[in-house]
Amino acid sequence: MKALMLDGPGQTRMAEVAHPGKPGAEEVLLRVRMVGLCGSDLSTFAGRNPLVSYPRIPGHEIAATIAETGAAVPGAWQAGMAVTMLPYSCCGRCAACRRGRVNACRNNQTLGVQRDGALTEYVLAPWAKLRAAPGLPLRTLAMVEPLTVGAHAVRRGRVAPEDTVLVIGCGMVGLGAVAAAAWRGARVIAMDVDEGKLELARRAGAREAVRGGEGYAAAMAELTAGEGPDVVIEAVGTPQTFRLAVEAVGFTGRVVYIGYAKEPVSYETKLFVQKELDILGSRNATDADFDEVIAMLGGGSFPVDDAVSLVVPLEEAGAALARWCADPASMRKIMVAIDEEAR
Ligand SMILES: [Zn+2]
Ligand SMILES: [Zn+2]
Repeated sequence: MKALMLDGPGQTRMAEVAHPGKPGAEEVLLRVRMVGLCGSDLSTFAGRNPLVSYPRIPGHEIAATIAETGAAVPGAWQAGMAVTMLPYSCCGRCAACRRGRVNACRNNQTLGVQRDGALTEYVLAPWAKLRAAPGLPLRTLAMVEPLTVGAHAVRRGRVAPEDTVLVIGCGMVGLGAVAAAAWRGARVIAMDVDEGKLELARRAGAREAVRGGEGYAAAMAELTAGEGPDVVIEAVGTPQTFRLAVEAVGFTGRVVYIGYAKEPVSYETKLFVQKELDILGSRNATDADFDEVIAMLGGGSFPVDDAVSLVVPLEEAGAALARWCADPASMRKIMVAIDEEAR
């Protein structure tokens, strides 16, 4: 069967790889239909992902159809069903796993990063990682996983209907936070330096949009009567936005970091104490986040088509990655249709 193989940074080729074979007792064989490419695939392509080794088949944002089920798979999972899946693994032994926080497993292996991913025709998956989403079109189904990352930050921030939430950065991760916070009934203020991203954030549920950079503080003060938002979600990953989050947030607010800065960040730490902040990290996503995003997407309020820049066949996925790498701002979500019908 066909697969997109990354032999090293910038080196892609269409490869012929072995079919994964029969599912084990607790596994299903998935026919992959549509796969979204995300920032981590781009990092893998560019050789900037320290967790990846080559050769590697990338891809972890999956819309698939169940082809075959293993002997011990519950009957609710049937051949022909459309599913997506959690692309993470967990060891069950580390401190995170023992606390039930399996999304932050110390020994996590993400599909397409530490193990081969989904840019191929068939993959095996443990049935426990599957999520069903009856009625969602393939593109929408492949959009679930990238949106869950922002939705998880919203969960970490305990966002409630009475909250005002500032989301800094409206790439796909920030957009997921905007949509999930709005879905919970909160008032969402989106911040970005890119007007197009702010427009998309509005369509995803942001009530207000603020241009990042100079003048943001005055705009925020006006929107929140000088109080600052209850929750700030940072989805950029620069020292400036890390600092901005604790400066902008209101007293006793919550700050959630999804991005991570490549360099050390210096802080005015008195703000942590003075405001008595909850400062939280957010990593990957949980079953509950998947269920929330699937329900949200089922409601039809998320602008899936506006968020997808390009749909390409598997044969063109390597070229699409190269184009995206050359001009990262030019693309939102790229989707790869594995078969003709999926397009
Ligand atoms: Zn992703
Ligand atoms: Zn673990």
